[in-house]
Amino acid sequence: MTGPSGTAGSVVEAAPADSGPSAGDWAAAESLLRNLSPEARVLLVCHVNPDGDALGSMLGFALGLQRLGVRRMQATFPGPPEVPVPLQGLPGLDLLVPATEAYPAPDLVICFDAASESRLGELVDRLDTAGASLVLDHHASNTHFGEVNLVDPYAAATSVVAEQLLTRLGVGLDAGIAECLYVALTTDTGSFRFEATTPAVHQLAARLLATGIRPGDISRRVFDTRPFGAVRLFGEVLGRARLEPVAADGRGLVWTWATLDDLVRHDQRPYVLEALIDSVRCTAEADVSCVLKQTAPGEWAVSLRSKGAVDVSRVALALGGGGHRFAAGFTGRGTAEEVVDRIRGQLDAAVIPSAGS
Ligand code: 5GP
Ligand code: MN
Repeated sequence: MTGPSGTAGSVVEAAPADSGPSAGDWAAAESLLRNLSPEARVLLVCHVNPDGDALGSMLGFALGLQRLGVRRMQATFPGPPEVPVPLQGLPGLDLLVPATEAYPAPDLVICFDAASESRLGELVDRLDTAGASLVLDHHASNTHFGEVNLVDPYAAATSVVAEQLLTRLGVGLDAGIAECLYVALTTDTGSFRFEATTPAVHQLAARLLATGIRPGDISRRVFDTRPFGAVRLFGEVLGRARLEPVAADGRGLVWTWATLDDLVRHDQRPYVLEALIDSVRCTAEADVSCVLKQTAPGEWAVSLRSKGAVDVSRVALALGGGGHRFAAGFTGRGTAEEVVDRIRGQLDAAVIPSAGS
């Protein structure tokens, strides 16, 4: 159940149309939370290398649970306990503990924004040791690895699911909860630019803003601030980008890579590279964009994006990762060129037929 190997087949099978949580799923989740004893220990976990949706949905929900009277609660994520600087202003960060200090056998574990067990890293054993498990997510590729699963592939962010559950539990929004959920929502919708930006997304944003949070300050902190060293690092990494117009059956591929040595030379932390894909994917001549971020010798965290002609989640799933149709990722092994070669080999089959030629 917890093994990361050999899951690709079942992930692919789990991917087809899922209309989101049923009434029974919502009722089961509500009952898990309403029936917690006052002494219950609740562990909230989000995915490795957490982004704004992972941390924002988890901490926003944690603050909501506090309002419900849950006292013994920890929030955590696998790997080094390092919160990216842009997210260090999030309310509720005092609830975070390093993975090494997380309750070994909580009464309830709640997972956020993680499409599969492998995204929980060393914390995956809590699915077995916890009294019960609840999954909140919006990845179509989610493997429904919890006992109760609230997975809505139509939700723009996991925070949308989190807010719906809080509402059902009778927890109203306050500024702290709202700021967390707003960061999550803006992160996953590209600040309301992506296709998932439905009227419901703007209505949720309106409810969040009505609590008095300041969108200008939040956006500047989360999206528009980076150290000068990162600006120069971006210049170098963008300068080596490669354009392959014939890849993906003529839709085009643009890619670049950043090594651990690049980070050292510019004195930067790995998370600064998360924003790099947004500059690369601007390339007009390519539908697919890719950034390889070295995580260890011969190991890369790979980000893939598409403008709509290619289902990059198919590429990522085939190579052991996952994600959404137009934003996906996986761990690549070998040289950067070898990893990109494997991507090239998957691209033609991932072109979406209805996208025309
Ligand atoms: P990003 O490129 O921003 O890291 O990730 C884009 C999307 O792909 C996110 O939805 C993320 O959940 C998913 N993703 C990224 N890396 C991995 C991975 O190694 N495994 C899986 N299963 N999903 C990933
Ligand atoms: Mn998300």
